[in-house]
Amino acid sequence: MDLKDLYRDVILDHNKAPRNRGVLAPPAHSARGHNPLCGDQLTVYVTVDDGVVTDIRFEGTGCAISVASASLMTEAVKGKSREQVTALFDTVHHLLTEADAPVPASLGKLAALSGVREFPARVKCASLCWHTLNSALAGSDTPISTE
Ligand code: ZN
Repeated sequence: MDLKDLYRDVILDHNKAPRNRGVLAPPAHSARGHNPLCGDQLTVYVTVDDGVVTDIRFEGTGCAISVASASLMTEAVKGKSREQVTALFDTVHHLLTEADAPVPASLGKLAALSGVREFPARVKCASLCWHTLNSALAGSDTPISTE
């Protein structure tokens, strides 16, 4: 199995069986995101305790990439500090938007998102959940749109 097959399998798996799907009641922070290009819509809920993401859920509808990306994101950020989440967001953003950005070994399963950069029209599908999480962490009530 080459790397591309592995990446595709991770995306398919997380689309079919999304992790951390659901809702968190306030005082959890939440934010809504929308990608009008594709029609992806999601809400991210996050609980921050002492500067650390202790719980995170998401719900919504969208294409396979948007759902898989959100699922992978929730697994990746749980237990991380806000600073670590910001750093991870930067790394993922580079990965999605720079064709020859290296794939750090520390990314784990998130490396599967690097397959998306071959399809520039889908980059916003993959980044929507991250922008939405940022908004939730910032306590913003303004819905995020990738447009
Ligand atoms: Zn999409």
